[in-house]
Amino acid sequence: MRNRMIAGNWKMNKTYTEGVQLAQDLAEALSDGTGNVDVVVCPPTVDLKGVSTVIDQQSAPFALGAQNVYWEESGAYTGETAPNMLEAVGATYCIIGHSERRDYFHETDEDVNKKAKTLMAHNIVPISCCGEPLEIREAGTHVAYVVDQIKKDTEGLEISDPAKYVVAYEPIWAIGTGKTATADDAQEVCGAIRATLAEIFGQETADGIRILYGGSAKPENVAGFLEKEDVDGALVGGASLKADSFSAMVKAAM
Ligand code: PEP
Repeated sequence: MRNRMIAGNWKMNKTYTEGVQLAQDLAEALSDGTGNVDVVVCPPTVDLKGVSTVIDQQSAPFALGAQNVYWEESGAYTGETAPNMLEAVGATYCIIGHSERRDYFHETDEDVNKKAKTLMAHNIVPISCCGEPLEIREAGTHVAYVVDQIKKDTEGLEISDPAKYVVAYEPIWAIGTGKTATADDAQEVCGAIRATLAEIFGQETADGIRILYGGSAKPENVAGFLEKEDVDGALVGGASLKADSFSAMVKAAM
């Protein structure tokens, strides 16, 4: 019912030339196709156009995603990127609410919600991140914490096509640390996320929304997460920076 998804978040890595090279290598590595797996790459903003050109020229089997957006359409917002600018370079997905943006750039649930609404108005699919810090996990209140984020991040959203809204559960203590959550940890929270989405949008819509796990996911462990009922794919940081490891994850999901 739900196509699996493997999405790569390059974060602030890869210059324009390096990004184009990585996209070319990935197109080559995935030239036999990705089956039913939806693959998304999210380069830095200045690399988007270059990666978009590679996708077109090599008919690459992956979609383009941005890592951030601003909710206004245009104007005096120095340094920000408007949704129509993402559209113009071919981005069809955009990560919002990543814990690094919440932490270093003080992005709130209210901001995440506004970004989701703006993106959806432009037919760009949000990949909306949530996840708890270590102290919340240690206190055992992680499920309630994430459910609260989901409620705030989705407030007032209208989801007519569940394939066009994606959630990524990323426990902050597992991001870039080499510490992974277990597949059971991921299922516990992803199951609670789906139940919350069902309360808000109805079961049918919730059943169509992809929920990804993120946090030190790599070729060796991704299959274990994907076996879980409510884990539909992975949002991948470090392992998306090399074509061989990222394509291996896509193949593990096929
Ligand atoms: C991320 O930041 O989205 C992420 C999951 O990073 P990593 O895979 O490197 O832990």
